[in-house]
Amino acid sequence: MSRILFNHVYKHYGKDKLPVVKDFNLEIEDKEFVVFVGPSGCGKSTTLRMIAGLEDISKGEIYINNVLVNDLPPKDRDIAMVFQNYALYPNMSVYENIAFGLRLRKMPKHEIDIAVKRAARVLEIEQYLERKPKQLSGGQRQRVALGRAIVRNPEVFLMDEPLSNLDAKLRVQMRAELIRLHKQLEVTTIYVTHDQTEAMTMANRIVVMKDGIIQQVDTPEEVYNNPSNTFVASFIGSPP
Ligand code: ADP
Ligand code: MG
Repeated sequence: MSRILFNHVYKHYGKDKLPVVKDFNLEIEDKEFVVFVGPSGCGKSTTLRMIAGLEDISKGEIYINNVLVNDLPPKDRDIAMVFQNYALYPNMSVYENIAFGLRLRKMPKHEIDIAVKRAARVLEIEQYLERKPKQLSGGQRQRVALGRAIVRNPEVFLMDEPLSNLDAKLRVQMRAELIRLHKQLEVTTIYVTHDQTEAMTMANRIVVMKDGIIQQVDTPEEVYNNPSNTFVASFIGSPP
């Protein structure tokens, strides 16, 4: 079963503007880790935000689990999103930060406790649950942000350049952590980055984008060995 299906999707901001996403067609399978990669401004975040319901779709359809979601509000989509500028609540403990979304959903307290501790165990931040965000390192804070996403046990994970605020060493470490997390949780994941290395090392499949148009969809090996055009060849071949 395909988790997410794009059918001739377009996006333009404002009525008379040119589309920034053009005729986007893609099928994402259950449990895949798909990376959208391309230069800044090519429409990656816009595409992700349309899946989450944070942007309207100008034309075409998006289906999640065979359900047309064009008009479905974000809260009714079983999706968790992690951004680059993840904001933790500074005055809440790590525990409260992770529990926050579940409290909003009025989950019973003992169930929240089980879910928060399970997420913290998976992310290896159990020992920091009583700390405030400012008492954590950048990498630990990023894990708390991930904790807030995984605690909801979503069907789909959307990540928009979640590591780009971290220093290079931590970024490499967190890539490995995210791959491990994906193997463990088996959640369908779409990961957006402008970083070719990140795409090549993390993806089951890569979607290379340019000017709102898909250039190639393939495994990292295929994209590297058989680029579909000179743009893909130079973009993937050149160092980040
Ligand atoms: P990426 O994430 O690949 O860097 P974006 O999806 O953020 O690209 O942006 C794609 C294009 O849409 C860019 O030209 C950007 O300037 C434009 N854009 C993004 N968000 C808005 C918005 N809210 N209003 C108008 N134009 C936007
Ligand atoms: Mg972006």
